[in-house]
Order: sequence, then structure tokens, then C-alpha cells
Amino acid sequence: MPKRSSILLIYTGGTIGMIKDPVSGELKSFDFKHMYGQIPELNRISVIIHSASIEKPIDSSEITPQHWIDLVKIIEKNYSNYDGFVILHGSDTMSYTASALSFLIQGTKKPIILTGSQLPIGTIRTDGKENLITAIEIAAQKDEYNQSVIQEVCVYFEYSLYRGNRSSKVSANQFEAFKSPNYPPLAVAGVDINYDFDKLYRSTEKTTTFWKSIDTNVALIKLYPGLPYETYESLIEISKFKAIILETFGSGNAPSSAVFQSSIRNYIKEGGIVLNVSQCSSGMVEQGKYETSSFFQKVGVLSGSDITTEAALAKLMYVLTLDYDLETKKKIIEINLCGEKSS
Ligand code: ASP
Repeated sequence: MPKRSSILLIYTGGTIGMIKDPVSGELKSFDFKHMYGQIPELNRISVIIHSASIEKPIDSSEITPQHWIDLVKIIEKNYSNYDGFVILHGSDTMSYTASALSFLIQGTKKPIILTGSQLPIGTIRTDGKENLITAIEIAAQKDEYNQSVIQEVCVYFEYSLYRGNRSSKVSANQFEAFKSPNYPPLAVAGVDINYDFDKLYRSTEKTTTFWKSIDTNVALIKLYPGLPYETYESLIEISKFKAIILETFGSGNAPSSAVFQSSIRNYIKEGGIVLNVSQCSSGMVEQGKYETSSFFQKVGVLSGSDITTEAALAKLMYVLTLDYDLETKKKIIEINLCGEKSS
């Protein structure tokens, strides 16, 4: 008989483990032990499940990069003892955490799957049970060589498994709350769980690296018609941020404001990194396609291609910690490191 897989379930909070405050009516996180008691089905899965929790379970709006590092530490400490990891996380910032973990844990040979729910686990119509049980089944799945089928960081929600650094939360009220607009789902759960084997990520790294530092010196600026560039000028300074993500229009376009262009040009001259990411959820940045993006190409703004904003932010925070010169860091930002972009 094949050995049962063992999974570490890591609880961080989120709606899945929340309960209504009887006085205020607000949803608040509660102790993991209570949540565990709500899912007797866990005892019937043929998987060994142990659990861990961050110190204080929180709504994922409270998640900070320090929590990402805490998760890296929990996974590193337990890496050799488990076949996979399932992280229960609020859906609001789940794609940020999934993206960050994909850069901070490089070369994993084991699945790290984030899941959560739109309705608390204690409510009758909860989506949490299916999400949790299937995430555990996927994390426990081995191939004929006894290797994990999934060897990357993923998000599992409402019957679909997505690459974590390709996912985005797209709905605040639908059970189908996530999408991966520029990369197909890695698996779809129906009667069977159907994997798209050709799309699964396989790292060429021999060892798994756990990165325990992050540099949050990154700004994110979303362009909009009429943005007062003069006001933003004082933000686009190397003394304030080491890197800036510009969320631009369409395929990477921006208005030709002289103030904006000169602040970007000076910022790059001073050693700042600028990454161009599209506000559109699907498609990609193509600098130089339109006159309104040629400027970026000329001054050395990096193209984010089809990366999500969540992954771009996490990638910059990771790359800034690397002990390389500026040009090498820029090259790393432009390449596909762990499946986060197509080109
Ligand atoms: N506000 C909640 C959170 O992200 C929403 C959810 O879990 O779905 O923690």
C-alpha cells in the first residue's frame, strides 16, 4: 500500500476561519482549533494532516511582508517533514502572498497551496470546505515516481488551481473569486481532478532556497486620466523609493506629460528601477507599439510583459534584496524567474 502523504496546514486567518461578532455583526478571525472542529471531513481524508498557525490569525488586509517571511520560516522548518503545505489565507491579499512565496521559496519540489473562502466555514453554504479539502487532496497528490504532482506555489479556489504568481482576486462576492488571465488553470476539479500537466512548473534548481528578507522600498503608481503629475514629482525620487511600478494604460501607454517624463528620466539616471505593468488584466505591455509608450523604451523603463501587479510588486521586493549590481537586478526583473511572466 502506498504511504499516506502528510500535509502541514498553516492557518493565517481570513473569512474561512471567521465568525460573526454577535454585538457588532462584524466578521472576526477566531482560533484555528475551533475551525478545525467545524470540518469533521478532515478526519476522513486519507492524508496525514498536522496544523500550524501564525501567532495571531488576521484578516488578510492586515498581511504585511513580515508575514510572508514568517510563512517562509514555518515552511523551511517543516519542509523535510511534510509532502506538501496548504495555507489558509484571506482571499483579499492571497495573490500577493502567493506571488511573494513563489520568489522567496525558489526550487520547491513540494506543493505550497493557498486557499480560503468567501463564506466562513461554519456557515451552511460555505465554499470553504470544498476549497480546503480539494486543496489538501491536490497537495497530497503524487505521481508514479512518488514525486509531488504540483511543485510550485498555487492558489486553489472554486474548482480551479492557479499558479500563484499568475492569479488575481477578481470578485468580492462570487465564489469564483480568482482568475489567472494570462496563464491557464493548472488543474480543474470536477468528478476527477484534471491536471494540465504541460503547464505545471518544474524548477531546474537542485536545492530549495528559503529567502528570509524582503525590501519594501517599492512604490506603485496607477495612472489615470488627469493624474496631477506635478504632485507626484516629489515621490519619484531615489531617496524615497528604489523601484517604482507604473500601472499604465492598455499595452503600456501613458500621456506625454513633460513633467512626468522628466521625473522618470531623472529617476532612472539616479539609479531607480521603473517597471511598466498594464492595468488590463489580460494581454501584455509592448513598449514602442504606440507613440505613447515609446518614451518608456527610450529611457530604460523595464517592460513587465504580462505580469500581474501582485507578482510585479513581490518580484521587485525580492530582487532588491539580491546582492547584485543594478544592471544585473534589472536583467533578473526582465526574465521569467518562476513562471510569473510569458516572455
Ligand atoms: N477580508 C477577508 C480576508 O481577506 C476576505 C476573505 O477572506 O475572503 O481576510
